[in-house]
Amino acid sequence: MEEYGAEVYYETPAVELIAENGVVTGVKAEGKDGTIYNIKAKSVILATGGFVGNSDMVKEALNGVSVNASGYNTNVGDGINMALELGAATRSMEAMVLHTFSIEGGSEVKGEYDFMDRYLATNSLAYMPIVPWLDAQGFRYANEEIVYDRALSTNALVAQGNYAWFIYNEELLNILENEGAAAAGMKESIAMGPMPDITPLHRGWNKLTEIVGQMVENGHVKKADTLDELAKETGMDPEILKATMAKYNEDARNKVDTLFGKDGDLMFEMSSGPYYAFKVTANNLCTVGGVRINANFQVVLNDPENGYTPIKNLYAAGADAGGLYSDHYAHTIEGAAQGWAYNSGRLAGARATENALGIKIDLFKE
Ligand SMILES: Cc1cc2nc3c(=O)[nH]c(=O)nc-3n(C[C@H](O)[C@H](O)[C@H](O)COP(=O)(O)OP(=O)(O)OC[C@H]3O[C@@H](n4cnc5c(N)ncnc54)[C@H](O)[C@@H]3O)c2cc1C
Repeated sequence: MEEYGAEVYYETPAVELIAENGVVTGVKAEGKDGTIYNIKAKSVILATGGFVGNSDMVKEALNGVSVNASGYNTNVGDGINMALELGAATRSMEAMVLHTFSIEGGSEVKGEYDFMDRYLATNSLAYMPIVPWLDAQGFRYANEEIVYDRALSTNALVAQGNYAWFIYNEELLNILENEGAAAAGMKESIAMGPMPDITPLHRGWNKLTEIVGQMVENGHVKKADTLDELAKETGMDPEILKATMAKYNEDARNKVDTLFGKDGDLMFEMSSGPYYAFKVTANNLCTVGGVRINANFQVVLNDPENGYTPIKNLYAAGADAGGLYSDHYAHTIEGAAQGWAYNSGRLAGARATENALGIKIDLFKE
């Protein structure tokens, strides 16, 4: 950038767009030492990375559902909010990279444990297709085999509320600890980022019950001898919970998931306690809805009656620009969010440069 004569102001966030009669003429920014910069510009591109770190905005966009901010949490919606001040329209604000689960209390486990031993108890137990996922009332809400697709499974969790209960019994935890997941019916292990296998199939999950025991003692994981007691501990409806588990166990015996069509081999029968309920919440890596743009990457006014007129000299790219996704991030296309960040930046940059310099740029040639 420096080679091209650009100046970068680090630790100097933009705080406001400067506009005259609705036409953007620059940005106001504030340095770390409090210095206010009024920067004049013929074109301004919003690229502040969305609003994952602004829990109020995220909750509003998700119609009241809460998720864990697990991305660049200093991205708090500045670019979008600055454009809203000028009357900009938004698009698909509810679209988020909802991706991976957290088990409540996992981060509070104390003691000297090997990284992987700790991980198995505090994370891996949320990524098992063989246990039932229940909503706050006790109904199963999805085919748990979708756990192999991070976006699908996390969107399913968020679609039914703030959290879910993932159910185990002591017999299953013991099988995992002594033999590994294959002995409980799991066929394919789960990878997580650089970790190729977080659900070992053919080796015991060392110290699993000891670490889970700690989470029970801390009050995060609920343990009960009977389903009635488990309902009391978790707040689920006892009749719904008992009916759900009876159906799940019957389907497990028959190896047919009559509710969601899951592979019948992936249903571990849990007909006796003690039972364990793990509270699972959703992680949000990034928001991907934002201000509405037109085909020239110009931010537009919220005036659908006029076909969305552009705000002069204002552009948006990356996570600040909404519209690529409808209501959620489709992880079936790996790298889609990052690819959009790069390419929309290039396109917005070209259009903003044309606007600022009064030239035409042919991106097929440049
Ligand atoms: C853990 C994780 C894993 C991911 N994995 C993938 C993946 O596998 N594939 C994929 O496609 N995408 C992935 N993403 C999403 C991807 O990283 C984002 O979509 C992409 O970085 C968005 O680019 P951006 O330029 O819009 O925003 P960012 O890269 O977030 O850049 C925004 C910048 O603006 C700065 N900023 C914020 N406010 C202001 C302000 N007021 N003034 C000036 N600067 C400001 C921020 O500090 C930041 O440097 C992942 C995200 C996370 C968190």
